[in-house]
Amino acid sequence: MTASELIIGSGPADFGTVAGELAIGGIGLSRLAARIGSTPFFAYDRSLITERVQLLRQTLPPAIRLHYAVKANPMPAVVQHLAGLVDGLDVASAGELAVALDTGIRPDRIGFAGPGKAPAEIGRAVAAGITLELESETEARRVAEAGVRLGIRPRVAIRVNPDFAVRGSGMRMGGGPQQFGVDAERVPDLLRLITALDLDLIGFHVFAGSQNLNADILGEAQRRTVELIIALAELSSTPVRYLNLGGGFGIPYSERDRPLDLTRVAANLAELIDGPIANRLPEARPVLELGRYLVGESGVYVTRVLDRKLSRGEQFLVVDGGMHHQLAASGNLGQVIRRNYPVAVGNKITEPPAEVSTVVGRLCTPLDLLADKVVLPTTAVDDLIVIFQAGAYGLTASPTAFLGHPAPAEALI
Ligand SMILES: *Cc1c(COP(=O)(O)O)cnc(C)c1O
Repeated sequence: MTASELIIGSGPADFGTVAGELAIGGIGLSRLAARIGSTPFFAYDRSLITERVQLLRQTLPPAIRLHYAVKANPMPAVVQHLAGLVDGLDVASAGELAVALDTGIRPDRIGFAGPGKAPAEIGRAVAAGITLELESETEARRVAEAGVRLGIRPRVAIRVNPDFAVRGSGMRMGGGPQQFGVDAERVPDLLRLITALDLDLIGFHVFAGSQNLNADILGEAQRRTVELIIALAELSSTPVRYLNLGGGFGIPYSERDRPLDLTRVAANLAELIDGPIANRLPEARPVLELGRYLVGESGVYVTRVLDRKLSRGEQFLVVDGGMHHQLAASGNLGQVIRRNYPVAVGNKITEPPAEVSTVVGRLCTPLDLLADKVVLPTTAVDDLIVIFQAGAYGLTASPTAFLGHPAPAEALI
């Protein structure tokens, strides 16, 4: 029996096993915990990240430039590893920009998107020679000011808030009124401003949503994005060289999620590249920016059982971590429909399911729930509980200061 067959939930990437234990990067979990020296910890499997990039390279059309959205997992070692595998890094803050620049990747392969870039961040980004994805007219002016001050002609792209919305996306970030991007109908005015400010406009960027598992919906969003950019390109005085189609590729988190059909996504993209992009935007390099899909399944969050408590017939496992490290698995502060992330007893990975248990953290709130009534092997104090799909939006997206427990360790193996 493989590890993933025993996991209650969806099928996370197969980490493999060593002597009855889950193995991360080929190391059995007890040994790994001893080496890291404390629980809880996040561990990311370097080879699974590499394999994921290879899968994308083999499946997607070769014209696609693959970027990593650093905010999904900004651990410097992870970003460094990915910098050697992908074509570009996308950052959303000066902190992420520093991590990206430290990898030594060419600055013209770094893009900076996100609303509310502070003037100081803009100055640093212009000085570093990266691409600024403009989210407003105000930003265009600030970028131009920084360029004059530094004697640099800034390279920019326009992030467009599209005039369509994508259904079925976990988090919508395009269409309707938004703080993200410039409304499509305002882009003509912005283009005139960019010309007047003498910014080096390389192209456009549309990010329509996150955590999408439906290839047809993704394909439709990409098709409408290309149509929109073709229309906007007609108003631009420079050819489109950069065509960022967003991403939003989802990963399965619960039993009912089916993995994304990447072959279908690739077929849709190939049609766009060989048709409208080749015909109407011949100089454009199509870019996909992926975060979660590149790293989400490569990571685990590992906690140790501190206490086993039977309360009125229900078996609770109290672990030494919780929602302050891995908020998403707890249901994001009271999500209406909470679904369990895949979970396993990592040091007993080959033992058969035996009892229904509820895994809770040690914060003083009933929201600190990591797994609700899951079937696990018989557990004991000191067992290692593993929460899968923890490689993206885990530690970085969690309220670590809540209750003031120590931060978990992080390791790339
Ligand atoms: C967050 C973000 C991404 C990455 O999204 P994932 O769902 O992690 O792939 C890509 N582009 C932009 C503009 C983002 O804000």
